[in-house]
Amino acid sequence: MSQTSVSAGNKCQPTGSPRVIEEVVNQTNVPPPSTPLPATISCVSAAEGTWDTIVMGAGVAGCMAARELARSGLRVLLVEKRSFPRPKVCGGCLNGAAMDILARVGLSATIEAQSGPVLTHFSLRRGSNSMTLPLPGGRAISRDRLDLNLALAAVAAGADFLPETTANLGAEIQQGRVVELTQHDGTKSAIARAVIVATGLGPQGLPDNAEWKIKVTPAARVGAGCILEGIDSGYPAGTIWMAVGDGGYVGLVRVEDNRLNIAAAFDLGFVRRHGSPGKAAIHVLSEAGCEIPPQLLDASWLGTPPLTRQTSPVASSGIFLIGDATGYVEPFTGEGMAWGLSAGLHVAPWVREAVNGWSEGIARGWIREHHTLVRRRQNVCRVLTRLLRCPRLLRGGMFLLERWPGLLGMVVAKLNAPSR
Ligand SMILES: Cc1cc2nc3c(=O)[nH]c(=O)nc-3n(C[C@H](O)[C@H](O)[C@H](O)COP(=O)(O)OP(=O)(O)OC[C@H]3O[C@@H](n4cnc5c(N)ncnc54)[C@H](O)[C@@H]3O)c2cc1C
Repeated sequence: MSQTSVSAGNKCQPTGSPRVIEEVVNQTNVPPPSTPLPATISCVSAAEGTWDTIVMGAGVAGCMAARELARSGLRVLLVEKRSFPRPKVCGGCLNGAAMDILARVGLSATIEAQSGPVLTHFSLRRGSNSMTLPLPGGRAISRDRLDLNLALAAVAAGADFLPETTANLGAEIQQGRVVELTQHDGTKSAIARAVIVATGLGPQGLPDNAEWKIKVTPAARVGAGCILEGIDSGYPAGTIWMAVGDGGYVGLVRVEDNRLNIAAAFDLGFVRRHGSPGKAAIHVLSEAGCEIPPQLLDASWLGTPPLTRQTSPVASSGIFLIGDATGYVEPFTGEGMAWGLSAGLHVAPWVREAVNGWSEGIARGWIREHHTLVRRRQNVCRVLTRLLRCPRLLRGGMFLLERWPGLLGMVVAKLNAPSR
């Protein structure tokens, strides 16, 4: 096996014994989980032999794909930059479509047991306007908890897990693709017949060449989020609370252990003007007449790059893109995880085919299927996001929904519709 650059020290992650993993699984009953999920393989061993598939990124999309492929008997390596569990900027709301996918792959019982109460309502406030609407079928769960459980499910299905390792796509070679695995003390080269890029919004680990184009929408908003502990009053569980202002919006929801999960999307200039995401959130909440949770300024806020973007193509030369790595529209309706889970599930047959030999037909097939599964659905969110940004349109929309609640039923049904 070819090795591009190997550090002198070469101290890789310890391999997690089944007993250690068992302890982490059991810990998920006690919030919040604190013991890191150990690696099941060392970096040195990961660089030996040829993998059927390497999955880069263990978010919802990557874990789903890794589990599906491991379940069908492929040799799968799931590589994750961070240590798990880890926080992530997200509203933490799984919608009906996401729950449907989890049910189809036999994971809904686990996730329901780990999540907060069923979400029943969505409450929106902007200035003096407010409305509360029924929102069936969803669940709220923190991303530290959800992603840990999905990674555990992938490991239980037979995938190897390599955390605290940044994966970058390397050269195309006869056996497949080189994937560079970088830990704090050096880089090793692994080889896979097919690679799944599920690295989310950040730097995607794609080669820096003209083949991949990332188009970021001008004036795209940035995401920010934090999670607050020990706040017992305000924002009852079971409802998604959303405050909308001129510079962005802030969503609040109680997750499994009553922590208050806060996720926001702001204009970059708005955050700069206010000096921090905490101050920007306070401005939006007070403009909408919402309660300001204490600790908002002192919380550890995380941020994202600009949200609305598109990467293309989503498949080429043994590489498949899924989840936010393919692009995203500004979040509002809690759609992103459903798209990521759906792509993780539906990419599996294409990857299995690619493992047996690449053809341009496979790339065309995934590009077409991804368009139907994700890109078309993102158009609904684009319209909703535009509505939210314009006060007059939003007032008109709220007026219509109050008089014809059936309209909302149609929109919710469209967003919650199972993928197939
Ligand atoms: C403000 C906000 C609120 C949102 N609210 C909701 C909501 O309520 N409901 C909903 O469904 N969706 C929501 N979303 C969208 C949702 O968070 C994403 O769509 C979803 O997380 C995408 O999953 P993913 O697996 O593609 O990427 P991610 O979940 O981002 O996972 C990517 C993983 O890859 C790892 N990684 C990155 N680069 C590398 C690398 N080079 N090598 C190895 N690992 C790497 C990262 O550490 C990360 O763990 C929200 C998004 C934002 C910004």
